[in-house]
Amino acid sequence: MNKIILITGGSQGIGAATARLAAKRNYTVCINYHKNDDAANSVVKEIENDGGHAFAFKADISKEAEVLRLFKQIDHQIGRISGLVNNAGIILQQERFINMTEERLQKTFATNVFGSFLCAREAIKRMSTKLGGAGGSIVNLSSIAARLGAPFEYIDYAAAKGAIDTMTIGLAKEIADENIRVNVVRPGLIHTDIHAKAGEPGRIERVKSLIPLKRGGQPEEVANMILWLLSDEASYVTGSIFDVTGGR
Ligand code: NAP
Repeated sequence: MNKIILITGGSQGIGAATARLAAKRNYTVCINYHKNDDAANSVVKEIENDGGHAFAFKADISKEAEVLRLFKQIDHQIGRISGLVNNAGIILQQERFINMTEERLQKTFATNVFGSFLCAREAIKRMSTKLGGAGGSIVNLSSIAARLGAPFEYIDYAAAKGAIDTMTIGLAKEIADENIRVNVVRPGLIHTDIHAKAGEPGRIERVKSLIPLKRGGQPEEVANMILWLLSDEASYVTGSIFDVTGGR
């Protein structure tokens, strides 16, 4: 039987690349998304046309009630998950720290931090060997911004990703004896629409000279790392942080 994984924000960018690769590696893929039905349905169709198994689930992971509904839907329609990729994330318009409103901070932390916490909590309830599960792997998406701080652009986002790094370190230790591994992937500049959404579609072109490999990364290059961490090849890896940044 195929293993079942949930990828939050699996309809676009890094999440969609991860969904395609996971389906090729024989996972049944639950693709969560927030708003864009067409994008989610087209990834599902692509995977099905390739002979894989994928299902789309619309839910705003920043809201607890929607996270609970999402996991219950997956339980009933697909089965018990053994992998979670906490990938859904947002960057709001570039802004100096001094102009950041409470509304903005709430939004940034609700999706990037609380959403990942809530999804991890619900995944653990299904995976924990102490709760009747078979174990599993959680991969959290952070960012190189957690290390660089994103001055003049989005310190809120960088700090939210810092919280994800710290959560990963603590949670990995807390649930190691429940047969669940937890790791974090920190991409650098990856070619997805997230930069346009934050107000600068050409951001990678502007800063690529700072990257030792002198280019932005492709979503598939991050997906390779995520799939490795989900797999048994990474059976002795937990609580670790992996930069996929072209050397930056
Ligand atoms: P993206 O192309 O903008 O895709 C974002 C995905 O997240 C979409 O599927 C979107 O669904 C979903 N999403 C957003 N808010 C959501 C919510 N509240 N509930 C459920 N789904 C939600 O982003 P990306 O560039 O692939 O980034 C993926 C992850 O990598 C993020 O955590 C990001 O912070 C991190 N990252 C990216 C880069 C980069 O350079 N691209 C670098 C470092 C880290 P809808 O379209 O339906 O709203």
